[in-house]
Amino acid sequence: MIVVLEPGVAEKQIEDIIRVLRDHKFDIHRSAGVQHTVLGAIGVHPEFDHRQIELLPGVAEVLRVTDPFKLASRAFKREGSIFDIGGVKIGGNEIIVMAGPCSIENEKQIFTIAKYVKESGAKILRGGAFKPRTSPYSFQGLGEEGLKLMRAAADEYGLKVITEVMDKSQIDLIEKYSDILQIGARNMQNYTFLKDLGKASKPIMLKRGLAATIDEWLMSAEYILSGGNQKVILCERGIRTFETATRNTMDISAIPVIKKKSHLPIFADPSHGIGIRDKVIPMARASVAAGADGIMVEVHHDPDHALSDGAQSLYPDQFSQMMKEVRIIAQAIERFIA
Ligand code: PEP
Ligand code: MN
Repeated sequence: MIVVLEPGVAEKQIEDIIRVLRDHKFDIHRSAGVQHTVLGAIGVHPEFDHRQIELLPGVAEVLRVTDPFKLASRAFKREGSIFDIGGVKIGGNEIIVMAGPCSIENEKQIFTIAKYVKESGAKILRGGAFKPRTSPYSFQGLGEEGLKLMRAAADEYGLKVITEVMDKSQIDLIEKYSDILQIGARNMQNYTFLKDLGKASKPIMLKRGLAATIDEWLMSAEYILSGGNQKVILCERGIRTFETATRNTMDISAIPVIKKKSHLPIFADPSHGIGIRDKVIPMARASVAAGADGIMVEVHHDPDHALSDGAQSLYPDQFSQMMKEVRIIAQAIERFIA
């Protein structure tokens, strides 16, 4: 249940309303919007008559939320969430690009790629140090050594860092090096891990699970939000369908659907979404046109020798071409890419 308060309601009244809700065993999450204070009352009480709350002084409106997620919903927070990550604003009018290799491989590789992506306008360096590979015999990532190299390369070129955390034991280590924690598609429904991430201090980028519906994905975001971490960014990265022509099916339609259902920023990862280099740029263009707040894309200076996902990684000149094109599209929808 969402309780929208009247503008300018006195603190004493707010406290009285919260007390009544708590007496009825609701957990309360309070959020202050530009005009209204909104109380999210969490708890399943089918017998509860919401008119009891509607009658209280200071209450403008009570909305019964039918979606199973609450903190992630647009009804709970009408304005889109904006997260400031060291001066990089995610979820605002600017479309943010995260780019870099699938995996950090060595010092020369990550510094070379960081330089290229920075020059073309990326704000955040991506790259995996702990890799969720389908085969245990494939390259698993450089671990902490990779994190150090990526942090150094990002600092050298004025970029922020995003990297994947695969389980609870890695959270503290990765928080030392990374500005955003990426949760991979394969972990989207690892609920005990999502609860741990609710306690993490860094923002989370939650990728969509390979076979997850949009509501299941938002419920996973809800686990993190209800655990106390309010900074969750969603990322569409393609889903499994019956189609075999592409690695996954990039669900562009998820972008406007999420925008309507949730206040959380939504990114798109066309590299994993489509899985083959020559179709990444069209999918990036489509994602921006559909309203994505940002793009995550794999770029490699020598993709033919990459240790993972070379076939879907853009060459540096393709990345700068992509940036040129998405800048034009951003302008057409009154957004921008700096
Ligand atoms: C990645 O971004 O490198 C990755 C493994 O992504 P996903 O979890 O979407 O497969
Ligand atoms: Mn990859």
